[in-house]
Amino acid sequence: MAEEKLTSRAEDFSEWYNQLVIRADMADYAPVRGCMVVKPYGWALWENITSFLDAEFKKTGHVNAAFPMLIPLSFFEKEKEHVEGFAPELAVVTHGGGEELEEKLAVRPTSETIIGHMYSKWVKSWRDLPILIVQWGSVLRWELRTKLFLRTAEFYWHEGHTAHASAEEAKEEMYRILDIYERFCREEAAIPVITGTKSETEKFAGAHTTTSIEAMMWDKRALQSGTSHYFGTNFAKAFEIQFLNKENQLQYAETTSWAISSRIIGAIIMVHGDDQGLVLPPRLAPTQAVIVPIYKTEAEKSKVMEVADRVFLELKAAGIRIKMDDRDNVSSGFKFNDWEMRGVPVRVEIGPKDVEKGSVALARRDRPGREGKTFVSQTDLASTVNGLLAEIQASLLNRATEYRDANIHNVQTYDELKEAVKDGWAFGYWCESRECEAKVKEETRATTRNIPFNQPSETGTCSVCGQPSHRKVYFAKAY
Ligand SMILES: [Zn+2]
Repeated sequence: MAEEKLTSRAEDFSEWYNQLVIRADMADYAPVRGCMVVKPYGWALWENITSFLDAEFKKTGHVNAAFPMLIPLSFFEKEKEHVEGFAPELAVVTHGGGEELEEKLAVRPTSETIIGHMYSKWVKSWRDLPILIVQWGSVLRWELRTKLFLRTAEFYWHEGHTAHASAEEAKEEMYRILDIYERFCREEAAIPVITGTKSETEKFAGAHTTTSIEAMMWDKRALQSGTSHYFGTNFAKAFEIQFLNKENQLQYAETTSWAISSRIIGAIIMVHGDDQGLVLPPRLAPTQAVIVPIYKTEAEKSKVMEVADRVFLELKAAGIRIKMDDRDNVSSGFKFNDWEMRGVPVRVEIGPKDVEKGSVALARRDRPGREGKTFVSQTDLASTVNGLLAEIQASLLNRATEYRDANIHNVQTYDELKEAVKDGWAFGYWCESRECEAKVKEETRATTRNIPFNQPSETGTCSVCGQPSHRKVYFAKAY
């Protein structure tokens, strides 16, 4: 029954990831190339992500709605940069009901165009603003090189689309959402992210400003984990979203859009996972603790199960997402490996000796082996387990933060920059010219990640060309 060992991260990180996603039962490959099937365990994780974000959006005045997945192809022509950005990735429907369609339809790659079209009908006066709508669903982008969760043709997300009466309000909205994203990553996913502005070349097609959250994976590559865009009046002009302002003059609305996708699951896997499998942050884990009863004889079984059943009910009543592994066709060792692979934060082991002593063994997933095992009293177990879950959550964030900070290198010269991005991120001044950015990309494959909001007070010189510059940027190889 012994399963083959997972390829280690150091051996082949990409292979480790591919094996892990399948063996942890998160997702599977679909018959259509580039698509994925999210399995119940992966979807349960996604639901915990979406329910946090949905609640945060509602607290800040947003409402949910649904728009069609088919969009007239002509809509994409209306915003020049948008069509250039998305044309290569569009899937187009040409036939329906056996007939060739007069108007070709795109399967949505993102919904700015269709939603902009609808907003132009709904917005007439300043009293109709702001509109703060979120759509939950999936989109399709024709990707050639795909990887489960990280890059698939169809993926799941929310897309927020808002329209406002003023630029100030729209920009505030962009930053408000980015704050929610940053807090979600830090508090729920235990992933420290850097918030900042994308460069002109890296921003969203058609955006005035794109802000992002950037995270460092275990292999030190960056993953853009969420974006929030301010469009100015670009989309309002393309789709005629106009309103009468308080002075009774016709004015274009200011719009935003923003998203976090199922890609964030890839980030959780690549930041926290280890050579035994997935390591899930307790706040998002579908199962926070699993009970493994250990016995050999029938007599032992009845004693152990009595305690195990009681513990199960107690932890469940305390709101802990708990599972009982009472399978009798596999060994305890098999069960340990199995739950480690799935990243369950705490394992509760109960054997005959524990029954005698009134104790249980708690094993923490973030510290496999002896080091992470403690024997605790059965009394007040729910609060002990809750305390341990909180400790694991904090410890995962600390570990990821220390790892990230140890692998970000301050650079002053181009040689230092080139050296840094070989195995980490470079943080250096940049003159913000496309030439310097292109040179770095061409010679090192690293791209600008974002220009962080947190900047040193002094100015410096561009780490590529040496010209005076006033802001620092992160350069890294990215997913
Ligand atoms: Zn430069």
